[in-house]
Amino acid sequence: MSCLFCKIVDGTILSTAIYQDELCYAFADIHPMAPVHVLIVPREHIGSMLELTAGDKDLMGHLAIAASQIAAQQGLTNGYRVVINTGEDGGQTVEHLHLHLLGRRNLGWPPG
Ligand code: 5GP
Ligand code: ZN
Repeated sequence: MSCLFCKIVDGTILSTAIYQDELCYAFADIHPMAPVHVLIVPREHIGSMLELTAGDKDLMGHLAIAASQIAAQQGLTNGYRVVINTGEDGGQTVEHLHLHLLGRRNLGWPPG
């Protein structure tokens, strides 16, 4: 199994855990783009949003709720951003679906 985030989920590659439950694992991004930069990944390998089907509805809802709970835990009461880079045009570099949770600074819009 060669997927970087699968190795992080199973502990083969070390990471700084932020949150975990039966369906997902959240950890600190190694190159933070904001004072809070957490990656939230499903334990199950899904390459990207390009692969989603209707059967992933509950899982994706779970990831969104996990992001909101982590944001609350991190004290991001002034707001935050959740990003899912997808595929080549979306700038995705790790092919295991992940949510970026970014916060504690004004992030600006639109993205570059
Ligand atoms: P993407 O560009 O695919 O949306 O995001 C991949 C993210 O994974 C990047 O923000 C990058 O910094 C992060 N990342 C890549 N390799 C590692 C790693 O080994 N450990 C951790 N914690 N984050 C990583
Ligand atoms: Zn994977």
